[in-house]
Amino acid sequence: MTGSVLNWHVLVLNRSWSPIATTTVRHAIGLMFNGVALAIDTQTFELHPFERWVERDVPDGAPCIHGVRTSVLMPEVIVLQSYDGSPRRALPFSRQNLYRRDRNVCQYCGRRVEAREVSIDHVVPRSRGGRTDWDNCVLACLGCNHRKANRMPQEAGLVLRRPPERPPWSPLLRTPEPRRRPSWKRFVSVHDWDEVP
Ligand SMILES: [Zn+2]
Repeated sequence: MTGSVLNWHVLVLNRSWSPIATTTVRHAIGLMFNGVALAIDTQTFELHPFERWVERDVPDGAPCIHGVRTSVLMPEVIVLQSYDGSPRRALPFSRQNLYRRDRNVCQYCGRRVEAREVSIDHVVPRSRGGRTDWDNCVLACLGCNHRKANRMPQEAGLVLRRPPERPPWSPLLRTPEPRRRPSWKRFVSVHDWDEVP
């Protein structure tokens, strides 16, 4: 992980300790400072308001925010004090989210494709009214896309590996695995962790 610790990611739990989002350390500290959130000690599950968190000793090697006089331990998980909802958000259709859904794998030949040879295929071609959305777009390698051209998959002798659909929303969507803290695994379901690479 590189860059300022303030830009690292923090897991956000609602009042019932369900993970609902991730945010930056900078934003998490702001929520703690304003009394909106408490930091959780991920070892002991103790809750700490801002004033107590900043007094804590920083263990050797632990990520921390360096201040002028003192260093503050980086919060890894925070819990909101009053919000108890769960966002039911629809995952927006975007190129990046489509790559994630299809895990960089061509949905026709099953080959893992590099970023530079990846394309988005309209299953029902646009020329036949196919829309640009989750249900009609898949990742395809250039070879398969070229072979399919303006035809339906079956007309081109191609078979979809699975029908495309909108992927479920997950609190980890904004934080790909390399940016997550291992301690989050104590608060996030295995399903959420594994579903979003
Ligand atoms: Zn292919």
